[in-house]
Amino acid sequence: MIGKDKICAVVAAERPRSMWAQLERALRQTRTVELRLDWLLTEKEIHAFLRRVAIKRPRATLIATCRRIEAGGRFRGTIANQLLVLAEAIRAGCSWYDLEIESICKCPPELLDVLLAEGRQLASAHFFRANPRNWKSIAAELRRSSPVAIKIAANSSSLADGVSLLRFAKSNRNVVATPMGDLALPLRCLALREGSALTYAPVERATAPGQMSLDVMKNLYRADRISGKTRVYGVIGDPIAHSLSPQMQNAAFHARKMDAVYLPFLVHDLRDFLAAIKSLGVRGFSVTLPHKQKILRHLDDCDSLAAAIGAVNTVVVRGDRKLYGYNTDYIGVLRALQQRISLTASRVLILGAGGAARAVAFALAQAGTAVCVCARRPREAKMLARAVGGETVMRGQLRKEFFDAIVNATPVGMFPAVEHSPLTSNELNCRLVFDLIYRPIETKLLQLAARRGIETVSGVEMFLAQGAAQWEIWTGERAAITAMRRAVLDALGTGKKKNLRARA
Ligand code: NAP
Repeated sequence: MIGKDKICAVVAAERPRSMWAQLERALRQTRTVELRLDWLLTEKEIHAFLRRVAIKRPRATLIATCRRIEAGGRFRGTIANQLLVLAEAIRAGCSWYDLEIESICKCPPELLDVLLAEGRQLASAHFFRANPRNWKSIAAELRRSSPVAIKIAANSSSLADGVSLLRFAKSNRNVVATPMGDLALPLRCLALREGSALTYAPVERATAPGQMSLDVMKNLYRADRISGKTRVYGVIGDPIAHSLSPQMQNAAFHARKMDAVYLPFLVHDLRDFLAAIKSLGVRGFSVTLPHKQKILRHLDDCDSLAAAIGAVNTVVVRGDRKLYGYNTDYIGVLRALQQRISLTASRVLILGAGGAARAVAFALAQAGTAVCVCARRPREAKMLARAVGGETVMRGQLRKEFFDAIVNATPVGMFPAVEHSPLTSNELNCRLVFDLIYRPIETKLLQLAARRGIETVSGVEMFLAQGAAQWEIWTGERAAITAMRRAVLDALGTGKKKNLRARA
């Protein structure tokens, strides 16, 4: 065992003062910390920082790393200088040192014995571009210097790459397996469960591709509590970093004290993700752009409404790998609107004819609403209107028409292009405007509507409702909606919280 805490905080800064501040922050969350001494700008600053470590002697397992440029680090000195820094770090209280294979190969073992005998060696190999997959021979090479533990960090250009590295860790003792890259981000959370001796998370700045912060790893994903029994869920999309579903779904699991985690998967290739479901033990997942339609052809069965909409945003995994699809955007639309307008006696305009517009159109048409569709591609608008027994409206007509509600199902106005609105103020002839966008909470369109005294509904309402419905499908229990709402609003910032809470 390297440290009692298996989440290893990475402390990396250019100045001793910031490095120390990071160390103090790290120690509030974990007692295993890697000190990236190579990040400090000069050797003088390394000495200054280590002097402070020696005086204060923090009660923690400290791993000293002074990685040379050749191995992907920042240290410009020679190998001899590197070893001297590591020796000083050991004297200052670091019980471990990380030495990369590039230096080990060039060092006589006797020199390591003389200089670093008091420390425990973590021999490391980093593959920033390739994923060699011949883990056995790499491990054999690393073990030649008789380290106490070894670390292999490799870029994963697919989930399959990352899974193969974790599998190696599972079948070997004292191995730190670190899949790198954006695709592997969820694997860093699952690494401990898979048998890696540590997983790394920076306190502040990422020191390797695809890292998540210590705070996120510890408090959002609780990576150190994930075990073989933990149920794994997630969201797949491309891009995915902006998604608030992890905050929302994990808040519900925490509130209900369930041993489950919900992770974000950046998925370029749907087949790569689907192939990893079994080995990662994924029990269910949300689907977002651009996979909502494409996922349909990989399902074993699909809810009839989702099939009619032609889009799935929720998948349940049964048995080893049987996939069942649902569409909860549909439920989200109804929950957001039904208390505000009479669905059976209203005429509603939908802007856009994409995936979300289809869910809105089917939901409203089924509820008895008269549906009108306006999209920049008239053919798409016509097809959607026909599918739900509605009509199309040309953009030029909007100034003369009145609707009970207008629903924006285009991305116009979404962060970062927040200054845009899909309609102008004089096109808003209605009683209510519902914008599906939830980032920002108050879009330009909603601002224009509010200025004209029109009731507004943010996409947050639908986001919460569709998310709660997903959670209930997966768990069979009632969702902790208050906790989910709080998590989403906190993630969106505090600006509009009060208004939204009051309205909800
Ligand atoms: P989508 O399938 O890509 O469809 C987007 C629609 O908007 C298409 O009809 C597209 O027209 C149209 N569009 C795109 N850019 C436009 C522009 N500049 N001017 C006019 N029309 C434009 O996307 P989606 O999945 O339906 O998502 C649409 C929005 O709903 C997104 O902002 C998404 O975040 C939001 N959403 C929110 C929730 C929630 O829970 N609140 C759930 C789902 C979606 P073309 O076909 O001509 O490109």
